[in-house]
Amino acid sequence: MAVRSRPSAERGKERAAERAHWPGAAPNEAVAAGCDKIVQELSKVQGVAKVLVAQHDVYKGFLAEELTPLVLATQKQFNYTHICSGASAFGKNLIPRVAAKLDVAPISDIIEIKSPDTFVRTIYAGNVICTVQCDEGVKVFSVCGTSFEAAPPSAGSASVEKIEQKLTESDRPELTSAKVVVSGGRVGASHAAVDAGFVPNDLQVGQTGKIVAPELYIAMGISGAIQHLAWMKDSKTIVAINKDPEAPIFQVADCGLVADLFQAVPEVTELLKKK
Ligand SMILES: Cc1cc2nc3c(=O)[nH]c(=O)nc-3n(C[C@H](O)[C@H](O)[C@H](O)COP(=O)(O)OP(=O)(O)OC[C@H]3O[C@@H](n4cnc5c(N)ncnc54)[C@H](O)[C@@H]3O)c2cc1C
Repeated sequence: MAVRSRPSAERGKERAAERAHWPGAAPNEAVAAGCDKIVQELSKVQGVAKVLVAQHDVYKGFLAEELTPLVLATQKQFNYTHICSGASAFGKNLIPRVAAKLDVAPISDIIEIKSPDTFVRTIYAGNVICTVQCDEGVKVFSVCGTSFEAAPPSAGSASVEKIEQKLTESDRPELTSAKVVVSGGRVGASHAAVDAGFVPNDLQVGQTGKIVAPELYIAMGISGAIQHLAWMKDSKTIVAINKDPEAPIFQVADCGLVADLFQAVPEVTELLKKK
């Protein structure tokens, strides 16, 4: 759920009213992913002005990895001042990711809203209660639902708007089911290459990426760190090209070439084309 920011002129006039009504108020816009019945119910909740709906099979599992880009794209488009979620397993997964991507500190488990930037939250498993003021441009927080009165579920009449998100489309086979995987490392899909922005993270192999075991795995300029190795070592045939003969990737490689990949790869490609 997200609260949309208002234009600054409007904000000044509304601020007093906003303050008076803030504690306990429902957010005025909500983002729903893929559920007609929920959309209908949400649109009737008092205080909700608009429900944004994104429908796609990828959102059915409520995976934070899929939902974070959706929330970020929505934030980019609508420029909300507050983004929140329930303090559930779902919220605990999603909210820190969204906050990290927006480069703001999230506030978790709030039990009271004192003003638009001041919240009460519990720490030490509820043994200490603290009041925090948040000076981030966007307030990202999770809410203990049991600490708030439920908004009346039938007094509202929010509009419903569909939003679209561009999902990664590729004519390549899915990484986990591909028969041949060609991976490039920091030099040229290891974690380092994704971090460097060379490739999207759906191409990352490894502990925090995908597990692969294709017929043929070609590792080019990949050192073979354990976080990469353990998730691709079951590949049927592993070919490694690395200029460092001591690179750990050679310990699991069936076929290794110690060479500069910028020289070796074009040569091998030419040879293969001639075959
Ligand atoms: C919690 C955690 C989770 C992680 N998860 C993952 C994960 O899912 N996947 C993953 O890949 N990593 C993961 N990592 C990171 C991992 O530890 C390594 O840092 C990363 O795999 C290194 O990537 P790299 O081999 O591409 O880069 P580097 O370690 O920089 O190695 C580059 C290699 O390329 C070789 N090279 C350089 N230039 C050339 C050239 N011109 N020709 C030939 N060879 C060359 C070098 O000799 C070197 O061996 C994780 C780390 C942590 C802590």
